[in-house]
Amino acid sequence: MDFALTETQEMTRRSVRGFVEQEVIPHSRAFDDSQEFPHAWAKKMGELGLFGVFVPEKYGGSGLDSISYAITIEELSRGDASAGVIAAVCNGLVCEPLLRFGNEEQMRKYLVPVARGEWIGAYALTEPGSGSDAAAMRTTAELEGDEWVLNGTKSFATNASVARVVIGYARTGQKKHEISAFIIPTDADGFSVLKKEDKMGIRASDTVSLGFDHMRIPKENLLGELHKGFTIAMATLDGGRIGI
Ligand SMILES: Cc1cc2nc3c(=O)[nH]c(=O)nc-3n(C[C@H](O)[C@H](O)[C@H](O)COP(=O)(O)OP(=O)(O)OC[C@H]3O[C@@H](n4cnc5c(N)ncnc54)[C@H](O)[C@@H]3O)c2cc1C
Repeated sequence: MDFALTETQEMTRRSVRGFVEQEVIPHSRAFDDSQEFPHAWAKKMGELGLFGVFVPEKYGGSGLDSISYAITIEELSRGDASAGVIAAVCNGLVCEPLLRFGNEEQMRKYLVPVARGEWIGAYALTEPGSGSDAAAMRTTAELEGDEWVLNGTKSFATNASVARVVIGYARTGQKKHEISAFIIPTDADGFSVLKKEDKMGIRASDTVSLGFDHMRIPKENLLGELHKGFTIAMATLDGGRIGI
């Protein structure tokens, strides 16, 4: 079996390494100290196609394979783990579920801008009372007319204070796994960024709590099937392991 990297994979490594050496490493210490979000890195990563590495080109991505994606995250993290995490969340936790579970309209509206690097995305599963046992979440979503109304608090959401879209999860039934996935535009009424964590490491990657206070999102922003969100969350994290 030939484990040699292909020319495209080698080219990906050279290209990401060049960006990291010129633009990430020289500023890494300063961003880590200040805990400021590195907007310049995010802009450049987006322009280089690093937010949608494995997303097909027709949806704005780079259309590369999983090995190229792993190389991308490895090279970014070599310079600063925060750069790796910012990209890994956009790729693995936002593009991936939109690509696998989104319908055509959702992909056009939300996947394309993230994959093109125009938007940053975030993923909100964890809550103050539910981490490993994610199905114990307390955030609820109720359908009122043509809108879902979400109430609850999410914690440790990476990228969320600078994101335009969040893949979020909420309880839609009484049974433990009756959870659904939602595409949440961060300009939704009732969405707010609460506390920013003061972390010991990867400090340039922002990690925040989110409040959903009677937050209203369109009915069509349900991602995948009703009550199937827990499966989506777990499937997303399986793929997300490549990057995180
Ligand atoms: C930097 C950072 C970024 C993050 N980004 C995101 C994000 O973008 N989106 C998001 O939704 N979440 C995010 N998280 C949250 C992360 O997914 C949770 O921290 C994780 O799920 C663990 O939850 P917890 O911290 O509540 O720990 P707990 O679940 O309370 O676990 C604490 C300890 O108990 C152990 N433990 C738990 N259950 C058992 C058991 N049944 N048996 C034995 N041991 C057990 C665990 O292994 C761990 O050592 C982030 C966290 C960090 C630190």
